[in-house]
Order: sequence, then C-alpha cells, then structure tokens
Amino acid sequence: MKGKYANIIIEIAHEKLDRPFQYRIPERLQGKISPGICVIIPFGNGNKQIRGYVIEVTDTPEFETERMKEIAGRAEGSLAVEEKLICLAAWMREHYGSTMIQALKTVLPVRKKVRSLEKKEIRLRLNEDEARQAYAECVRKSRTARARLLEELLKCGSLPYELVTGKLNVAAASIKGMEDMGWIQILSDRVYRNPFRKEGTVSERKTLSEGQERIVREILKDYDGGKRGTYLLHGITGSGKTEVYMELISEIINRGKQAILLIPEIALTYQTVLRFYRRFGDRVSVMNSTLSQGEKYDQCERAKKGELDVIIGPRSALFTPFENLGLIFIDEEHESSYKSEVMPRYHARETAEKLAKLHNASLILGSATPSLESYERAKRGEYRKFELKERLTGGCLPAVYTVDLREELRQGNRSVFSLKLQELLKERLQRGEQSMLFLNRRGYAGFISCRACGHVMKCPHCDVSLSEHKNGKLICHYCGYGTNRVKICPECGSKYISGFRAGTQQVEEKLKELFPRAGILRMDADTTRSKDSYERILSAFANQEADILVGTQMIVKGHDFPNVTLVGILAADMSLASGDYRSAERTFQLLTQAAGRAGRGVKPGEVVIQTYQPEHYAIVHAARQDYRSFYEEEILYREMMQYPPVYHMFAVLAASRDEAGAGALADRLAGAADAFAKENQKMPGTIRIIGPAPAWIGKVNDIYRSVFYIKCKDYEVLIRIKDCLERYLKENPLREETVQFDFDPLNQL
Ligand code: ADP
Ligand code: ZN
Ligand code: ZN
Repeated sequence: MKGKYANIIIEIAHEKLDRPFQYRIPERLQGKISPGICVIIPFGNGNKQIRGYVIEVTDTPEFETERMKEIAGRAEGSLAVEEKLICLAAWMREHYGSTMIQALKTVLPVRKKVRSLEKKEIRLRLNEDEARQAYAECVRKSRTARARLLEELLKCGSLPYELVTGKLNVAAASIKGMEDMGWIQILSDRVYRNPFRKEGTVSERKTLSEGQERIVREILKDYDGGKRGTYLLHGITGSGKTEVYMELISEIINRGKQAILLIPEIALTYQTVLRFYRRFGDRVSVMNSTLSQGEKYDQCERAKKGELDVIIGPRSALFTPFENLGLIFIDEEHESSYKSEVMPRYHARETAEKLAKLHNASLILGSATPSLESYERAKRGEYRKFELKERLTGGCLPAVYTVDLREELRQGNRSVFSLKLQELLKERLQRGEQSMLFLNRRGYAGFISCRACGHVMKCPHCDVSLSEHKNGKLICHYCGYGTNRVKICPECGSKYISGFRAGTQQVEEKLKELFPRAGILRMDADTTRSKDSYERILSAFANQEADILVGTQMIVKGHDFPNVTLVGILAADMSLASGDYRSAERTFQLLTQAAGRAGRGVKPGEVVIQTYQPEHYAIVHAARQDYRSFYEEEILYREMMQYPPVYHMFAVLAASRDEAGAGALADRLAGAADAFAKENQKMPGTIRIIGPAPAWIGKVNDIYRSVFYIKCKDYEVLIRIKDCLERYLKENPLREETVQFDFDPLNQL
C-alpha cells in the first residue's frame, strides 16, 4: 500500500469513533502500513506512547506536514480481532462506497454504559401430573401465555428467561403470577450454567441421513486438509440443513474454533432458537435487532472473552468479534434482508466471504431457492454445491393448482377468490383444518396490467414493468422512460386494464362476507406495528385459534403449522410486476416458500396459485418446484438484458429538498461517470449508463430523489467509477444534497 500519511483512531469501541488523527509514516514503514494494523503513536502534549489503529492510508496531508507527528512503530502482539474487523471495514468502504467512519461504525461494537444483563432461568417446580393439571386449568381459563409456558416446560424442564419473555412471548407479570402459585422457580445468574445439558435433556442428536452425513464429512475433510472455501447447500425446507449446520458447528467447536450463523430475523423463531440452546447450552447466544447498543456490546464482550462459541443472528451478527472463527453459515442466503439499506450498503454474503478469508474460515450458504448469484458461482465452480432433496419429517410435497384469473373473469367471477380456492377453503373449514392466504404487496404502488389477457405494461428498454404516477404517466424507474396511461389494452383491446388494488385488509373483509363463521387472522405491516404482535399472531395461529391467516410475505417464512393444509396465493402477478429485474426471482422464491407451508404435518397439502400469467416461467417452475429449470431461463434473461449476476450494477442516488436540484446533481454525477468511462476506454468490459430518472420513491419526507445506474461486467471497473465520483464530490462539495451508492441493488431505489 502506498501513501505517506496514516489516519489513525485510538479508541475503537467508543462513541467518538469519528475522530481520526493523522500521522506521518516514516520511511522504514512505508508500504508496511495498511488499514487494520495496530501501531504505537506519540499522543497528546506529553507524547505518551499509545496504541492506535490505522484506518486509512493516503497521500494527502490534512494539515501542515511539519506539525505532523510520526508513527513510532508497529505494535507487538496486537489484538487480532480488531485488526481483522478494521480490515473488513476498509474492504467494505472500497467495495460498497461509504466513508471509513460509516464502515467502522458498522463493524465495530460501540461501547455504551450498560447494566450487565442478569442471566435468569425458569424452572418447573411441579411434577409432571401436577403440571398437566395446571396446564389444563390454564387452557380452561384461556390463559394462553401460561399454558404455552407450561407446555414448553413440560418438554424441557427449564428455559432461559429471556427466551420466555422474548420469543415465547410470555409477559413478566404472567411469569411472576406462576412463581407466586409455586409452579415455577426463577433462578438467577450463578446458578444459570448450561441448563439443558446439566439437566440431561440435551436434545437427542439426530442420526444424520446419508445425504447429511456426506455433506458434513466432505466439508470437514476440506477443513482438516487445510482447504477453505464457500459451499452452497441447496435443500428444500425440512430437508435437514439446520441439522447439518449444528453438526458442523459442534465439530468446529471440538477443533477450538467458533461459528457465526446468520438467520433472517423473521425466521429466528422460538423453535429455532430453542433448538440451538438445547444443543449448545450457554455457549450459544442470540443477537436480535431488539437488543440495545449496550446489550449488543455485552454480547460482543462475551464473544471476545471466549465465553461463547456460537452466535446466531441477523446480518449484523457477522461482526461478532470472535478470535478464532472457523465457520460462517448463512441460512436462507437468498433473503434480501442480508443486504444493508444504509451506507455502506453491504451484502452479508460477500462480506462474509471476505471475513472468512481474513480468518482463514469457510463459508456455508444454505437455501431452498438459492440466489442467482450463488447458483451461478456454484455452476462456475467457485462454490462447491451440495443438494438435499428429501424432507426428513415425512410429509410429501403439496399438490399445486395454478388458476388462470383471466378465465375466472371470462366466467364472470370478479371476486379476489377463484372458484377453486373458494371450494378448497370451504373444505378446510368443514374438516377443521387451517389455511393461509397470501397477498404480496410489493409493487402495489401501481403496475398496470390487463385482467382479460394478463398483459403487463413494460419498459421497452429495460423489460421491467412500468409504475403508474399520480399525473397518470407510466414511468420506468431504471431509465426514466415514460408513456401515457392507457385506457384499453394494447394487446387485446379489453378495457379491463388497470392497477391491482386489493390489499390484505380488503381480502380479510371479503373473506368475512364469504365465510362469516370462520376465524380469521390478518398479518401485515398494519397489524404488526407494535412490538411482539408478530409473534402473537403467529402463536395464536399455531395454537389453532383461527382457521385462516391472511397476510403479506411475512407469513411465508419458516414457520411450521402442521394443521395448515391449504395455501392460497391470491395474485402471483403482484410480485412479478414489481418493476425491477429481480421480480421473477422473487416471485419464484415466494411461491416456492409459500407452497412449502402447506402439508408440513401428516395431512397432505394443496396450493392454489392465482395469476393472470399462468404461462410465466417463474410461475410454471414454482408450481413444479423446479429450481434448475427456473434458473436456466432466468439467467438467460439476465444475460440478455445485462442484469446481475451476469453484469454488475452500480446505482447512484442523488437527493435534495429541491426537485430540480436532485435531478441536476444526478446529471452532473452521471456526466462525470460518463467522462471517466470515455477517458478510460482501455477498461475491460463495456460500460452503460442508464438514466438519470426519478427514483422509484421519488420523494421521501419532502426530499426529492433522482437515480442513475451504471452497468458493467467487471465489478472492479464500477469501483473505479465510484472512486472517481468520490473525488468529484470532494472537489465539488455538496450543500444540502446527499448522495448514496448502491452496488447490485436488490430493490429499486
Ligand atoms: P431445514 O433447515 O432444511 O429446514 P431442519 O434441519 O430444520 O431442515 O430439519 C427439518 C426437520 O427434520 C426437523 O424437525 C429436524 O429435527 C428433522 N431432522 C433433521 N435431520 C434429521 C435426521 N437426520 N433424522 C431425523 N430427523 C431429522
Ligand atoms: Zn389485454
Ligand atoms: Zn426503462
């Protein structure tokens, strides 16, 4: 690394992280200093020798060089974890575009004063018969929370307190009440040590199936042979992926290493968390977005001190400071929640790959519907791929019916429920089985399609659906193409061309009209606003307190409802027409997952997919649960239209209070990018600039947003364009406008 000056921070776990000091790099150290390296520097008036971390190396002095102090030397025996995390931050800065401080704040735990969490455990004091009586009493009195806790305690004797108040959703008052009755005992801190193991209730380790066994063996063989890499575990839900993770984790712990397991927040359910507590006791900890800064810091300290072997959590759990990281897992690796929505807009998958390299660890990705990115890399041989094809819990894959809504319209059925779906719903109600109805709201902002022939109004240049605007125009949010709203379908001449208006609330109302006696629960952004309401609705449904659950994509994720035998997807088109290049992929994933909800138990399941485009390949292949065929068609589309993963896309979003200002700034930046591209014709790969155009959400809190995209096959080239824009912004400082960078955006900006 070249550069004469180093920006150094001296206190890394501090709120005042944003105070780097610049030092001169002495001749003898030049080329040996890079971000992450721990150095000794003279500090303050007395020039006391202290440790500092290099966060940036540069050729530009920030003040007079005569007054600048010099680095004294490299620190001996420096703290490995911090170095790696700072290295990672430097990589993220470069790779995704942000300031170094933003990147550091993302990876480093910020110290805040916290009261150390008291570890508590809840233990059953009743014998089994008494507990069953108490349980029956609670059920009779409709004390569902208490009943729930008793039921769980009957299974495992004791539970961590925070698991009960958190994931199991039992209020502290109910716990207190049960304690007063003498039913349970709350044990604190010192007593709490690995409750599950000590009680001898270790979850019996499953004998792995041949398929599972082979995966574990192969990965360990690589690992023990010193080979590191990324593995893709492609297996349908219920095929035993989590069991494979657990086996690998215990093997890696035996080798004195630690593991990080990323799971989308929404899938971190009570059952999942408990499974890990049971297997790994208090050597495992769970990170939640609900934890405060202080609590997170506490967790990080425990990890650093070696009190933990495994951390489970969403995206940010990746930055747990383990000294000896051996394996990183990303479950449901296709999930969009793995991409950060604030700068640096990092993707956990790529970042985990980098982190694994820094630690000499391996990365394991798991999914039933892998992202195109991962599958393509596996095909190219960059990742090693394993498949798990069978469900281990029995239960066969559901029967899937695709209903053509155009046909329904022709037959005069204008309701949101097809005749087939109505019939099957009625059947479930009669048999006392449960149903889930699913309405994806993405794209609700207004795509226009024909209800008679299924035609969707699309951009002729970008092949994504157009969005309707208040002024009646239809706009493409990649390139800015616009056209007037049509009154009749350009394809078939029908006048039934319109936006799709139904929301979950209307569906619920219509459902009540149709089945007045059915118990209905609704889950969407409106009903899950308050804390815990999400878990509350799910547990009510799991307890069979309702017949039908209506919801948005929230309801399709990893929950096991054995009594659900029917899943209805009301309008598959809504996600197909979300106006960006990932709409088919997302639809395929959603349909596959939704279908996977039906027939988890012993009773066979049925799935109804309602759509205006039954011939669309995403729908056809999802109905057959045929990932490979979907992949083959989708990757052709990406290649042809130059979208990721074949091409890379770099999005630049300019925002301003002034409408013209946002557009003008986007124009200037696009101009600078264009000039840079022209000057550097030698750069490999062609570069295409698309836009600027008003952003998909053109105005947020009175701030106007304008966006443009740059496409290129070579990611490195896009990084150089980003660097060029950063230089431009340094030379032309912004006033009130802001700029955001996003590489390979998952959603429209
Ligand atoms: P996935 O993570 O792929 O959804 P899980 O690991 O959660 O799959 O396994 C699904 C179900 O099958 C779980 O109830 C689990 O306990 C069970 N299971 C997993 N592996 C085995 C096995 N080897 N033998 C018996 N049951 C298993
Ligand atoms: Zn039409
Ligand atoms: Zn377009």
